Amino acid sequence: MNLTFLGTSAGSPTSERNVSSIILDLLQERGKIWLFDCGEATQMQMQKAKYSLAKLEMIFLTHLHGDHLFGLPGVLTSRSLLQNQSPLTLIGPKGIKEFIETVTRVSYSWLTYPLNIIEIEHDDTVFEDKQFCIKARQLEHRVPCFGYRIIEKERPASLNIDKLKQDNISSGPLYAQLKQGKTVTLEDGRVINGLDYLGDAKPSRKLAILGDTIPCQSSIELAEDVDILVHEATQEDILQDKATERGHSTTVQAATIAKQAKTKRLIITHISPRYSLKDNDQLVNEAKSVFANTDIATDLASFQV
Ligand SMILES: [Zn+2]
Ligand SMILES: [Zn+2]
Repeated sequence: MNLTFLGTSAGSPTSERNVSSIILDLLQERGKIWLFDCGEATQMQMQKAKYSLAKLEMIFLTHLHGDHLFGLPGVLTSRSLLQNQSPLTLIGPKGIKEFIETVTRVSYSWLTYPLNIIEIEHDDTVFEDKQFCIKARQLEHRVPCFGYRIIEKERPASLNIDKLKQDNISSGPLYAQLKQGKTVTLEDGRVINGLDYLGDAKPSRKLAILGDTIPCQSSIELAEDVDILVHEATQEDILQDKATERGHSTTVQAATIAKQAKTKRLIITHISPRYSLKDNDQLVNEAKSVFANTDIATDLASFQV
């Protein structure tokens, strides 16, 4: 599981940073990728990061401001050109359905695969299956805006392949049964208990990906105890008044949320176009003065969860 930032600029792109979009790479866990926000040129950034639209299973939008949304029509319609016609789920604030219907109608476009749109209007569990549970909570921005808490359910223990080989149990379909902890009978008559070959269950992972917001209680609750918190830091510390006025946070405010929520690691993104990459050290050091384990995202940077 890892996070790749496709765009890290706030409001509009710069020559160094594209607008908001993040890939959650679940290729190992479920053979799929999920997208959080979809700013302009997201499909181009996906190609640069070597991710295929064919693997895209879910899109989560934090809010409907253009810098988080305007790449969506391109992503959805390009996906129609693929051979792979697997369903896609789109989750975002109320209005997203009307946006998609309007943009496809006016541009004479159509989608060839099933698109399941889920509009959220209040705090809710927006997705759950046997692997993951995703909770959304409303943040405090100028328009309805949500943050997402992604909780991995317990990860199954892996098989101890070395031990199996030592005991002359060759690989094959029965490995799958052993992995489920079942007892199987081998061709040579031996009876083998899968539980004897399983390692410890790996701890499940949690992360929080928040949309634009001023500091608020929902952010702390979403970020509580997560392995990685992705928080916007539109402005430097000295511009707190400006940040608040526009519904945004500063570096220090993002770090304070990470500290209050006892997160393990903070990644700040959504950086105002007023800053260039040369300002990264200043911005990240401001955050580190409050929460040491902080990184600043740059376009196409990846972080292991
Ligand atoms: Zn924004
Ligand atoms: Zn916004």
